[in-house]
Order: sequence, then structure tokens, then C-alpha cells
Amino acid sequence: MVNDTTRLLGLDGLVVDRVELDAAGVPVVVLSTGCEQARCCPDCGQEAVRVKAWVTTRPRDLPVAGRTVRLRWRKRRWHCPTDSCPRVSFTEQVGQVPARARLTGRLRAAAGAAVADGGRTVVQSARDHGLSWPVVAAAFTAHAAAVLPAEPDPVEVLGIDETRRGRPKWEFDPVTQAWQTSVDRWHVGMCDLTGGQGLLGQVEGRTAQTVIDWLTARSQDWRDQVRYVAIDMCTIFKSAITTALPHAILVVDHFHVVQLAHQALNDVRRRITVQHRGRRGRAGDLEWDLRNRLTRSARRLRAERVDKLCDDLTTLPAKISTPILAAWNAKEDLLDLLALARTHPNRETITRHLHRFYTRCADSGQPELTRLARTIETWWPQILAFLHTGITNAGSEGTNRVIKTVARNAYGFRNPENQRLRTRAATTRKSRGHLNPA
Ligand SMILES: [Zn+2]
Repeated sequence: MVNDTTRLLGLDGLVVDRVELDAAGVPVVVLSTGCEQARCCPDCGQEAVRVKAWVTTRPRDLPVAGRTVRLRWRKRRWHCPTDSCPRVSFTEQVGQVPARARLTGRLRAAAGAAVADGGRTVVQSARDHGLSWPVVAAAFTAHAAAVLPAEPDPVEVLGIDETRRGRPKWEFDPVTQAWQTSVDRWHVGMCDLTGGQGLLGQVEGRTAQTVIDWLTARSQDWRDQVRYVAIDMCTIFKSAITTALPHAILVVDHFHVVQLAHQALNDVRRRITVQHRGRRGRAGDLEWDLRNRLTRSARRLRAERVDKLCDDLTTLPAKISTPILAAWNAKEDLLDLLALARTHPNRETITRHLHRFYTRCADSGQPELTRLARTIETWWPQILAFLHTGITNAGSEGTNRVIKTVARNAYGFRNPENQRLRTRAATTRKSRGHLNPA
């Protein structure tokens, strides 16, 4: 009874009667019903015997062997046999082609999966499948809801980071005579840093309360299993974690500390240039020419390059070179301290390095270095946790890159809820097995 063409098409409950070519050479697949269940009333379940009419439905389907095909299913409309049934008549339906459906289920699913698992944009998936944007967007939402886990699995190391959503808007305030951001939207993302689950969720707004709300929405058991939380030097996240995960150890990684040190060094350089040259730095000023080499780690330069850097600096007048050299040395001291991470340093070694850094900052008398030392002091417990554990928030930063790529490809999102769902689908592709060709 089942012929080869029916098997090839693979639509359960439908039988291929014949395949014709229309005037343009497009295959037209003529289908009939091949399933007894199709004549049972969807409301009362009774098998119908009286045909009311014949109807033809033309659902759109995926290409067959790379060719677009037109389906034409001639089916019956039945009278319901039960007198009391509210459904007086009904048309036949099968799993892939429900009543009134204009697309097969598998076409809709493929369009949604192309976005959620294939990383395509909604527009591109719509083009590829010959559908409209709203249809694909709805298919994506349905697919994502089905494949994304409702609750995250246990996490040992949690990463928290923020991403700007869209562009900030600036407005001039006539009272304070200053430009202020009137719209500045943020998403805060929670990431599994060691378990490979990717992005666990995002919340809107960069406040401690939104983070606390997300964490307290998880089960107590889940929260108890979080041992470490990696953050950047942001007091909002610190206070949120102290409230919602009081047992977890906070870690601040070297990336943000080094960034601060470079900032302090650049601030000193700029201020000194303005003070002694009366203008901003420019090509021809030695300290300006050396600016990129100054912020490179001396460990990554060859010894003779480091010597040359120091020699070059000393050719400048002392009032310029001394503060810059002091800032450079302080930065290098801090790098040496951070390099102790993952080497199982003992307490004495750490204290020696830290003391050397603090002394250098204090002796220099530069306000930027004093501020840097204060910040390090404030965050010392979290930095020390990094030296002992070596945990970094790089996973969150990598996730942010994907988030931004998704937003750029979509030319921005109007709807933050859609954006979070798209972001979550994109960042969990690896854990859901879609980046592995096997
Ligand atoms: Zn019925």
C-alpha cells in the first residue's frame, strides 16, 4: 500500500498518489489521507461515516532533494456522528498538517531551529524558508521554549557581567549645564564558567535588586552549590552576592585589575604632559611615542627592549620621566603580584609583593597611584581569592562578545525579551551540541 514516493516524502498519515509537473516545471505532489485516525472527530473522538464535502489544502513544506515542491492534499470534511457534539463537522488532519495549517510542522520547526540552533537571523531564515518575519519569529520562540532548559543545572563557578543594550541617549540638562544620559539600558548576564552551560539567564537593569531577584528565584539547593562568583570590580554585584549567596567566595580576576593599572599609568602620563608642556601629548613627544610600550607587560618584552624603554624615558627631563617611571614600576609590581596566581603562592610571598606595590604607590606621591592603591586595598579579599583559585570571568566576557554579535547581526532589538531569548539560544548552542559537527 505504501509506495516509494510516500516513504521519500515522509509525511506520516499522508499517501502520495502521484507527482506531476506544473507549467513552470515545479513538482506538484498529490496527496490523499492514509490514516484512519484522521476521520475521528477531534472533539468527541467518534469515527465519522458521512462525508460533508471534499476540500483541497496546499500546505507549504520543506524542499525535497533540494527542490521546492507543492503539496496538494485532497481531503474530506466529515459530519460528526455524535448528535450532542458541539463540532458539527470537521476536516481531516494529521500530525504534520493540523487543520487550517498553511505550513507543515517540519517547515515551521526548521525555520525556528535555523535561528535558535543554526545562528541565523530571523530575516535570513525567513528568506531561506520562503516565510515572513513574524512567522519565523514565532517559530523561533516556540522552538527556543522547547529546547532551552527551564532551570539551570547546578553551577560551581558563577560569572556575572553586564552588557550595554543599544546605545545610550544623551540630553543637555539646562539646570546643571551638563550632558547626562537620559536612556542607558543594561543587561546583566549570569554565566556558568566551568560547567559549560553557557549563559544561564539575563536580567534587565544594572541594579543589585535585579540580580538578587534572579538568584532568589532559583532553588535553595541550587544556590547552596555555587561556591565561587567571578565579577568585575562593581559594588552592585558585590552587594547582590553578599545578600543572595552569602556563603560564596567572590573573585575579581586579573583582567580588570590590569586594566585599572593601565588607566592609572595613562592618567599620570597625560597629566604630566599637560603640566609640563602646557598641551596634550602628540607625536614627537617621547612619552607619547612610548605610550603603547609602557602598557605592555615587561615579562612579555625581551630584556633589551625593557632596558631601551627605561633608557629612553630617562632622556626626558626628570620632572616628566620620574612620575611616569614611578607609575610604570607600580604597574609592573602589580603585574608581578597577579602573576602569582595558579602558582600556589604562600602568604609570605604574596605579602612581600603587595607591600612592594603599596610602598611604590605611596612613595611616588602621584594622586592616580594613591587612588589605584586604595582600589586594590578595597578589593583585596577578592583579588586574593583570584591568586588562590585562578578563576577568571573570561567566560562571561566571551559570552558578551556573542551577545554583541547577535545584536549587531539583528541591527539591534526593539524588544528586550526577544533579545534575551535570542542571546540565550546563541550562547547555549555549544552546550546543546550544535557547534559540534559530529
Ligand atoms: Zn464530535
